Amino acid sequence: MAGLTLRDVRKSYGSTQVMHGVDLDIEDGEFVVFVGPSGCGKSTLLRMIAGLEEISDGTVAIGDRVVNAVAAAKRGVAMVFQTYALYPHMTVYKNMAFGLKQAKTDPAEIDRRVKAAAEILQINDYLERSPRNLSGGQRQRVAIGRAIVRDPEVFLFDEPLSNLDAALRVQTRLEIARLHQRLKTTMIYVTHDQVEAMTLADKIVVLRDGRIEQVGSPIELYERPANAFVAQFIGSPKMNFFSDSDLTEGAAAYLGRTINAEEEVGLRPEHLVPVTDGTAVIEGRLELVENLGEYALVHLVSQSGVEFIAKTEKPPAATKGDTVAFTIKPELVHVFDRASGLRK
Ligand code: ADP
Repeated sequence: MAGLTLRDVRKSYGSTQVMHGVDLDIEDGEFVVFVGPSGCGKSTLLRMIAGLEEISDGTVAIGDRVVNAVAAAKRGVAMVFQTYALYPHMTVYKNMAFGLKQAKTDPAEIDRRVKAAAEILQINDYLERSPRNLSGGQRQRVAIGRAIVRDPEVFLFDEPLSNLDAALRVQTRLEIARLHQRLKTTMIYVTHDQVEAMTLADKIVVLRDGRIEQVGSPIELYERPANAFVAQFIGSPKMNFFSDSDLTEGAAAYLGRTINAEEEVGLRPEHLVPVTDGTAVIEGRLELVENLGEYALVHLVSQSGVEFIAKTEKPPAATKGDTVAFTIKPELVHVFDRASGLRK
């Protein structure tokens, strides 16, 4: 087991720089998720830690050891890929044993480790099957098993659930969470899915355009996003953004502060509460209601033309075209500087 230290890590492909100086500390045993939109650099960063991409500048240390010049196989990391990367002509057992065999591990020890990993992942019954005859979820478990048998200091997961259908994604996500509880090994996990990030991570690293936007626990990122980008990325449906002129005339009095022209206000859909009294902060014309039973997503357009969503317990007693007013607890209002995007 080991923590990691990244200092001013940069990556260039030719003259194009794609990582612009990443500083990050990962504690021993932590589950860290790199999240961000496609192209933000999360896979590149993971692959630099794995030793699959050269580090153009800066240092990556695993434990106390700077690994920039250490070969992937010698870094003490094991990676699980989105595409599983299993050998199609080998049985499950041989796939899991392969790395250890290459490392000339004692056959009895290989057998012990493969069986122990198969037990954890409940794939004992498939050990003699070929990967071809497994479902996607079973193949991904074999890929995870292959990582476990290596007893790595750090597990690296590169979008491991992307090729699974929705139900299996949820199930496998839980299995990975349980695996971390059980093994307590440092895990770094890449995803573009903020729900995976929120549910799995001790610590989320939000990336954009090769830079870290914010590092924090899921709840810190949800409650105190450092900027408008993180605010919009974390939470579903996305946070609504408004200018002062979109809000009701009474908003400033109710919220206890004015919003100036250089600021924008972020209101999460689940924090908007329908009201008919004088505490309304935002009003909108009802466009559409998605009633999901346990809650409703109410789609509205403000008088100023801004589309927004309210997530309410029950559908509003209103029909298309009606005006619906909402309030919000003042402490749940997020204010950002319009130009820099930074939280105020
Ligand atoms: P993510 O995993 O967040 O989707 P990547 O780490 O794959 O993003 O890519 C980060 C950036 O690096 C992107 O702009 C991508 O186009 C660029 N990139 C990745 N691999 C290469 C490569 N081999 N050559 C040139 N540019 C690359």
